[in-house]
Amino acid sequence: MIVTLHDKSHLPTVRRELARLGQWVEAVYGETGEVQLVLGAHGTSVDPSRIEGLSGVLRVARPASKHPRVDAQGPEVRVGRVAFRPSARVVVAGPCAVESEARIFAIADALRKQGVPMLRGGAYKPRTSPYAFQGHGEVALRWLSDAAKHAGLEVVTEVMSERDVDEVAKVASMLQVGSRNMQNFALLRAIGAAGMPVLLKRGMSATVEEWLLAAEHLLTAGAKGVVLCERGIRGFDASTRNLLDLGAVALLAHAHGLPVIVDPSHATGRRELVIPLAKAAFAAGAAGVMIEVHDDPGVALSDGPQALSPDELGGLFDAT
Ligand code: PEP
Ligand code: MN
Repeated sequence: MIVTLHDKSHLPTVRRELARLGQWVEAVYGETGEVQLVLGAHGTSVDPSRIEGLSGVLRVARPASKHPRVDAQGPEVRVGRVAFRPSARVVVAGPCAVESEARIFAIADALRKQGVPMLRGGAYKPRTSPYAFQGHGEVALRWLSDAAKHAGLEVVTEVMSERDVDEVAKVASMLQVGSRNMQNFALLRAIGAAGMPVLLKRGMSATVEEWLLAAEHLLTAGAKGVVLCERGIRGFDASTRNLLDLGAVALLAHAHGLPVIVDPSHATGRRELVIPLAKAAFAAGAAGVMIEVHDDPGVALSDGPQALSPDELGGLFDAT
């Protein structure tokens, strides 16, 4: 952003006022007459009219954003009875995959007792190996929907193909885009066109800017709000499954003012790290967390090592 000052303005005062709005001056051009200030790209996102309103400021010019719809979205996305906004601390939980009708009913019931408002669970699973369990598909959508209705929970579930959008949209409160599909633009357009809220997981090698542009695709196509989900990026160290980027979470929550949730299950791949990192996510400003929960993690068909039992999830609600 470039801020032009009146000739009589007092530069140190304007600087101080800008700093109070989270704006940092990177360069100053012109010592007398019209003084121009270049604001750094790392400043907090702020409505330019607030800068225009400062005493001493003549006008503000700002380069067109690459993702104006994301910038305009604001901090809150409502999904049924659930509101995602920075620091809301929404807990989304459920199994990696919907494995059977009885199991998803048992999990949904246990989650309701914990006060969890939204159930997750994949009917269509994006598995790296073609030999791994791929999800039960259409029938699992029905089990998921019935279990959520029975327990009074909202539902988020992944859409893997343009072909499945309508079918998934009938049962879900929010459509999930998986990490592997963050830049599948045809899929983003089809999902956006459903006109529903979308949970957009970060591509495992995506920059924050690429992630925001994927959100822009969804909003351009008609999505009714995008909640971002940080699920870990590729690191060099296999000690944890991925590298949880809480810096990006704080950036999106505090600098961009966007709803972002954290998935500590896929980020770490280790159940003993899930609750500590969920708490860290809240401290960083996350609007919520998404956690894999299974009633018997030892026999889970996918991602058992990172799944918590419903009782273990209770640790998240402890005071500390
Ligand atoms: C999931 O949340 O079910 C999932 C497959 O995660 P990701 O897309 O982040 O790998
Ligand atoms: Mn999983």
